[in-house]
Amino acid sequence: MVKIVDAPEGYEGQGFFATSFDKVIGLARANSLWPLPFATSCCGIEFMATMGATYDLARFGSERMSFSPRQSDLLIVAGTISKKLGPVLKQVYDQMAEPKWVLSVGACASSGGIFDTYSVLQGIDHVIPVDVYVPGCPPRPEQIIEGVLKIQELAKNESLRRRDSPEYKKMLESYNIETVDK
Ligand code: SF4
Repeated sequence: MVKIVDAPEGYEGQGFFATSFDKVIGLARANSLWPLPFATSCCGIEFMATMGATYDLARFGSERMSFSPRQSDLLIVAGTISKKLGPVLKQVYDQMAEPKWVLSVGACASSGGIFDTYSVLQGIDHVIPVDVYVPGCPPRPEQIIEGVLKIQELAKNESLRRRDSPEYKKMLESYNIETVDK
């Protein structure tokens, strides 16, 4: 069954519909998120299930996995991230074009999980900014879908100017991520 998303708020009359540019762009972005799965361990398997026929992430316009950072806008980090892998994750994030979002799936990605050890990063937000955290060890596919829906909400309601704002640039700078002035 094809699901048509709801139209954004606007003005409607006979033969016309008018709304703001922000809302149209937000609607398009939210319903065509292209995920880059950065899956390292068990949570990655849950993500595979999320992509399968039973849960079917394609229902939300996100069936197109991208293993190229430049063609994706949703970084899904699922699994344990070692400190050695941190710079690699950061480079992948750097290579993604704006606007981009990050979903941290599971306890390991979000906080190091049960691995409070010398070698494991205690949360990916030590190296990149995270938009939504999904709790659980592992989270069920329903929870991962809930996380994607939360990202959709952020994408839908984001101002087109947010990424150019001083606050956003300051946040990236706090992660030592270079910002480009247009
Ligand atoms: S949170 Fe649990 S299930 Fe997920 S990667 Fe860590 S140990 Fe595995």
